[in-house]
Amino acid sequence: MRRFLTALVVVLFVVVAALTACGASELQLDPSLGVPDLWSRADVLQDPTGTWDVATVEAHAADFRPASQLVPDPASGWFAPATLWFRLVPRNAASVRWYLDVDFNVDSGELVYRAPSGRVERSAFGMRVPYADRPYASYGVVVPIPAAALHDGTLYVRTASRLSRFGTFAIRSEGWLRDSAERAQRNVLVPLLLTAGMILALALLNCVLAVMLRDGIYLWYAVAMFAFVLYDAAQSGLAWQFLWPRLSLPYDITTYLTMIAYFGFVVGFCRSFLDLPRTAPLLWRGIVACFALLAAEELVYAFAPNAIDRAGLYSVVDPLATTLLLIVVFAAGIAAWRGGNPLARYYCLAFAGVVIGMAINVSGVYDLIRHTATTDAAAGAGVAWEAVFLSVALADRIRGLNLRAATLQGERDAFEVVALRDGLTGVANRRAFELRLDEEWRRGARTHARLAVIILDVDHFKKYNDALGHPSGDRVLFRVAHAIAGVLRRPEDLVARYGGEEFVVVLPNCGRDDAARIADDLRAAVRRLEIPHAATDSGFLTISAGVSSVVPRHDASPMALISAADRALYAAKRDGRDRVAVARLAPRWYA
Ligand code: GH3
Ligand code: MG
Ligand code: MG
Repeated sequence: MRRFLTALVVVLFVVVAALTACGASELQLDPSLGVPDLWSRADVLQDPTGTWDVATVEAHAADFRPASQLVPDPASGWFAPATLWFRLVPRNAASVRWYLDVDFNVDSGELVYRAPSGRVERSAFGMRVPYADRPYASYGVVVPIPAAALHDGTLYVRTASRLSRFGTFAIRSEGWLRDSAERAQRNVLVPLLLTAGMILALALLNCVLAVMLRDGIYLWYAVAMFAFVLYDAAQSGLAWQFLWPRLSLPYDITTYLTMIAYFGFVVGFCRSFLDLPRTAPLLWRGIVACFALLAAEELVYAFAPNAIDRAGLYSVVDPLATTLLLIVVFAAGIAAWRGGNPLARYYCLAFAGVVIGMAINVSGVYDLIRHTATTDAAAGAGVAWEAVFLSVALADRIRGLNLRAATLQGERDAFEVVALRDGLTGVANRRAFELRLDEEWRRGARTHARLAVIILDVDHFKKYNDALGHPSGDRVLFRVAHAIAGVLRRPEDLVARYGGEEFVVVLPNCGRDDAARIADDLRAAVRRLEIPHAATDSGFLTISAGVSSVVPRHDASPMALISAADRALYAAKRDGRDRVAVARLAPRWYA
């Protein structure tokens, strides 16, 4: 399985790399500008300064060349970036309405004609014209040609693009635009809204998780997905309609920057999800380098767009940088998977979707397969796939964390049991006693129930040790502890080793007389062990006990109870040992 997947990935990358390497664009300007019958002439002239007005253009009337002569530069395959003036002379004044259908890469343009009155009429267009100010409601740039412009004289169209590619327009009829709008709705808008909607929903869910779990990884994921939706909306032109209808943003810069943002957040996600700097430092450095290359390349496109085109590298640099980054990001997943990270398999599955989607998209763009709306939508579909499987990965991560938390809780419980037990005797230790006493004291103060303690001390134990050695003494302490525990019946009663050869018993809801009776039972139980001990009167090991019982109070500390029991214990020792003494406290302790 692992070998199969590795092979699949390698094949995928070879295909993507091959597709991108041999993708040379065959872009041609349609010399008829869309409608051969419409114009008696379609000429073009380059404005070398970019500042000409109609008067200057008219002064250069003789320099216009047929638009069919406007061909890409044979060296680079692209048009020189320029302000172009198209001069269109209408052939027939058909009653249909006509429109300029302008490419996204035309930043600014102008439709200019001289009315019969001699007045110059103009309307501005281009991506830099805010959507809200555009005369025709379409996410593309569509400019109605005034009927008057087709009836009389000459129509000029000026296009200025920062870029040397695609910066042109076509003439469309009303019917064509309507069909095209329907097509776009079906082929562009619906798939885009579906994938964007799904991606956004998952991104939002992960935003919530980021806040609730206070874990940055969900935020990386969410912002990467938001950035992709932004990129998708920008490159389809829909962002101008829905997101920033009042802003003047150039198309190329917007798409390049959103693209960098998407990949940047993907890299951030990949870093924290796979913990790359620690688990695969070399690959991580590779990812950073590839991202830097892609970002540099996109920034050059955004701010010095023609540098790469002039070198004839447009069709190589961009796909190569993207492919390289995808390869290393994917390879990191494979490495993490092989390194035993179980989440990496979802990660690989997720990025396989992106790789396949991008491969189809690129193949369509470079005409290696038939370029259709489906090939355009493939990148979005790939990222939607990615969104789903990364979400699965994150969900599985939560499961893993929960499992770990449960294990830790189990270990914690086990440690707590150890921490509250006395190692020698196995009964509760002094810490457990103090915790329980405190708890019962507060409960008693609330409920006014009496609380008793018994402190027990082995008689002449020093002598026992001296006579038989400490190891024998230890064994005796063990037996004494268990003899005491055996007498206590109620689950809320507690016996603890108080220290040395002293034990303490906590008896909730127990009055003085009952406690004294129980203490005597404890004493008798130890006596019944019949452990020989020469230093005592009976010849067997015995214990003495001090008992006290009070009604706990919020304004007093349980130390009062202990001290009273301790004093009683001393009284028992003084009175001859092997006996129980009961503390008598002031009447206020029994209220
Ligand atoms: P009495 O209480 O009857 O007055 O005499 P005692 O000899 O028991 O006197 P005391 O309580 O002062 O002595 C405590 C002795 O208990 C000292 C030490 O030898 C012994 N002892 C304390 N802790 C341990 C223990 O963990 N193991 C063993 N073997 N002996 C212990
Ligand atoms: Mg003692
Ligand atoms: Mg003692």
